[in-house]
Amino acid sequence: MAKAREYGTHEPVSIHPYIDPVLCIGSGACVKSCPEKDIIGLSGGKGKLINASLCIGHGACASACPVGAITLVFGTAARGVELPYLTPHFETNIKGVFIAGELGGMGLIKNAVTQGREAVDFIARRIKEEGPSREGVYDVLIAGAGPAGIGASLNARKHGLKSLTISQNDLGGTVLHYPRHKIVMTSPVDLPMYGKVKLKETTKEALLGLWKEVFRKTGLEINSNEKMIGLKNEGDWFRVTTTGGEYLARCVVLAIGRRGTPRKLGIPGEELPKVAYSLIDPEQHRGHALLVVGGGDSAVEAAVALSDGPGNRVTLSYRGDALNRIKPANRERLEKAVSAGGVKVIFNSNLIEIREKEARMAVGEEAVTIPNDYVYIFAGGELPGEFLKSIGVRIEKMFGTPRN
Ligand SMILES: Cc1cc2nc3c(=O)[nH]c(=O)nc-3n(C[C@H](O)[C@H](O)[C@H](O)COP(=O)(O)OP(=O)(O)OC[C@H]3O[C@@H](n4cnc5c(N)ncnc54)[C@H](O)[C@@H]3O)c2cc1C
Repeated sequence: MAKAREYGTHEPVSIHPYIDPVLCIGSGACVKSCPEKDIIGLSGGKGKLINASLCIGHGACASACPVGAITLVFGTAARGVELPYLTPHFETNIKGVFIAGELGGMGLIKNAVTQGREAVDFIARRIKEEGPSREGVYDVLIAGAGPAGIGASLNARKHGLKSLTISQNDLGGTVLHYPRHKIVMTSPVDLPMYGKVKLKETTKEALLGLWKEVFRKTGLEINSNEKMIGLKNEGDWFRVTTTGGEYLARCVVLAIGRRGTPRKLGIPGEELPKVAYSLIDPEQHRGHALLVVGGGDSAVEAAVALSDGPGNRVTLSYRGDALNRIKPANRERLEKAVSAGGVKVIFNSNLIEIREKEARMAVGEEAVTIPNDYVYIFAGGELPGEFLKSIGVRIEKMFGTPRN
């Protein structure tokens, strides 16, 4: 716990378990069941949070606890977290507008697929009760084709709904941006039109291949590279505006994730083709001078992966003065890479310009120029909160409370 405090990982950021000290009997089932490492431990015979900010909401601890002492909650009394209001059927305050997947506050592929599927089960029931949609009106429009959009789209097909799926990128969502051959951990999940998927541990490529195959077999198509930009309630339906046109739909499932659009630094040279916002194939780099910008897990993972390439010289630039909130395993890997000379970390630095063969940054008061072939920026994303507010979805602040 002291180490977690030192690393700044002890404070919950969003979702995390609340362990009721009165009910807890210290069985340790929560500690053993957690797929992440050292999030919960036993102290004084009771379950205690250690690296609370690293919790990503598997919920295995709550299911494993023999006495029901664990509840998954969002935020803390001191630090609220903003999430869209949702009913148990994933409907927002706007009747007919649903949110599934990470946008609702819960990460992980299995949760996202399940929520997309369940939201559409509810929509199908409602449409059956209220009667068919008018000609030219979709029963459901699904925005986003990550795991939540995939679950929703396949289930819409299964229920025979008139549906349309659009996505800002291609089928796969965030999974498309995982590094090449990344090991993906996912618990068994029920995929409509396919059945139970029991891939406990798979790769990015295998998972994307499976989804493509299921879509091909069911004849489902998505409108890729089409972004939803607006929504207007017109009584019996919604008018959905996208970068490709306008559609009428009775229900809308927002499965657009939380990552939004990668945040840009807004500096000269950022438009150069050598600049990227995700690292998909570190192996393409050999003998390169590489600059990684950011202080989170993604930046650290990228810097370490790039340092493995023969002859690469990696600089990690971070505007803060310490790397807080990164996973302990990443911290260890980074420390190893730094001592082996593979990565140089520059704290208190801000990139100010990217040129063909170099990068300029402000380090404290000083301007420093370093040789550079490629830049990878991990500065978070422009989160979809503003978009949700603009279409009237109510956002509420949660202070250590469970969802529904
Ligand atoms: C590096 C990394 C590794 C991970 N590893 C794992 C793992 O091993 N196991 C696991 O279970 N989870 C893992 N996760 C988490 C998992 O990827 C996410 O929880 C999951 O992808 C969430 O699914 P989603 O459908 O809600 O959102 P996303 O997958 O983010 O999909 C959202 C989709 O919506 C699109 N979109 C966004 N805005 C719009 C718009 N306005 N209009 C139309 N489309 C839009 C996006 O382009 C995207 O296609 C990992 C995440 C990361 C970043």
